Amino acid sequence: MRRVLFGGIWHETNSFCPVQTDLHAFQRFALIEGDALLTVYEGTNTEIGGFVAEACQQDFELVPTLFAGATPSGLVSRAALDHLTNAVVVHAQQRDFDGVLFAIHGAMVAETIDEADAYILQCLRNAIGTDIPLVVTFDLHGNITQPLVDAADVLVGYDTLPHVDMAERGREATQILGRLLDGAALPRKAFRKMPMLTVPQMQGTESDPMRGIMAELHRLEQHARIMTASVAPGFPYTDVPHLGMAVLAYGDDADAVADRLANLIWSRREQFRPYLLSPEPAVGRAMAEPSGPVFLTEPADNVGGGAPGDGTTLLAAMVTADAAGTVVIWDPAAAAAASSAGVGGRFRGDIGGRTLPLHGPPFTIDGYVTFAGPVAYRRDAAYMTGQPVDLGLVATVAMAGVKVVLTSERAMPFDTLHLRRAGISPEHERIVSLKCGSNWRAAFGDMAAAQYYVDTPGICTSNIERVPLTRLRGEYFPLA
Ligand SMILES: [Zn+2]
Repeated sequence: MRRVLFGGIWHETNSFCPVQTDLHAFQRFALIEGDALLTVYEGTNTEIGGFVAEACQQDFELVPTLFAGATPSGLVSRAALDHLTNAVVVHAQQRDFDGVLFAIHGAMVAETIDEADAYILQCLRNAIGTDIPLVVTFDLHGNITQPLVDAADVLVGYDTLPHVDMAERGREATQILGRLLDGAALPRKAFRKMPMLTVPQMQGTESDPMRGIMAELHRLEQHARIMTASVAPGFPYTDVPHLGMAVLAYGDDADAVADRLANLIWSRREQFRPYLLSPEPAVGRAMAEPSGPVFLTEPADNVGGGAPGDGTTLLAAMVTADAAGTVVIWDPAAAAAASSAGVGGRFRGDIGGRTLPLHGPPFTIDGYVTFAGPVAYRRDAAYMTGQPVDLGLVATVAMAGVKVVLTSERAMPFDTLHLRRAGISPEHERIVSLKCGSNWRAAFGDMAAAQYYVDTPGICTSNIERVPLTRLRGEYFPLA
């Protein structure tokens, strides 16, 4: 039986978000250590769940370190990065294992360290030396760099957006480690980076251009002499010099495969331009649809991209138009005030617009509380199925048309439970407004009668020209 050390540190960092990601932010989302890793994540659709499931097949004895994750937000504090990295390194220094499996996001940025994921893997590599194989999973939104590629023997990226293949990729990484421990030679690596910025709403793998690109990737994985390959469109909402689309391939044909995929992506770059509607016409189109629910998706305030989720622009447009529907706003103080009014009580006050002026001013609502209480659940849709989620104290305030769900924790709307636990049945709503890029589809896609992407101002705007990037050098598609 082979002993395999495993764990993960996961964060997608938006450097334009002023909410710093400290150790407390990890503790609130996920900070699981030791044997609890095996029990909390067993059977979940997460990378850790995939490691655990496949380890039995590979006859691995798993040695847990920790898994730490935080909701996408601002720069990770240096103290949090050091604490988490050191906690892993202490285990790694024992070197009483044969291989390592690790899960990262790939777009983590810390105070003073642009390439935080590479830093973690370098620390891990320094601890284990060059003889112990290290296989690592990463998110499709990772901003991959050469130091990251150098630190890991193999990197395995998600193939899906909405992300639904986390456990599958965890299993794949475990199988690859099994082959390496059985004596397979370390594969040749190929890494290509393209000066190309794309936005989450256009990176979805269920539609072109990504559907065709991933089909070619899977064809090559079957027919070329490669162990694995990944395409990472990346995450453009952080001010670092290493943005851009990336391709990775491992094996004898790695260079040919990486070049073929990179050329295909570059030739299709025009297809990545997004289509957006301004708030007023979007609300008008939604109200004119023959039936609901119509999803008005607001990528600029995408909580999963590190935006605050307290923007009020679309809410204001819905109220002004007398629209009927639901909006979720992160506002701990308002959630507490509305909760103290109690179900049936009246709440009148300003909500949202607390974090960034760009996301609109606080908006005054006046209505009756229809739900109040703490909300926590395990994800039940295809994204990270089984992962615990805590929305904190939640209150729903119903006005004449619009119901506002106020949460005290920022939450990615990747499950219908996000609304159901606050007393909202999304399928019965006329309009459902979600602060999201593409992952909403995993839970809500099948019930959507129609869907529009709405162009509100915000730090995750799909108008990439408006993102205040200052550190790129040279020309990047589609920037002028
Ligand atoms: Zn992602």
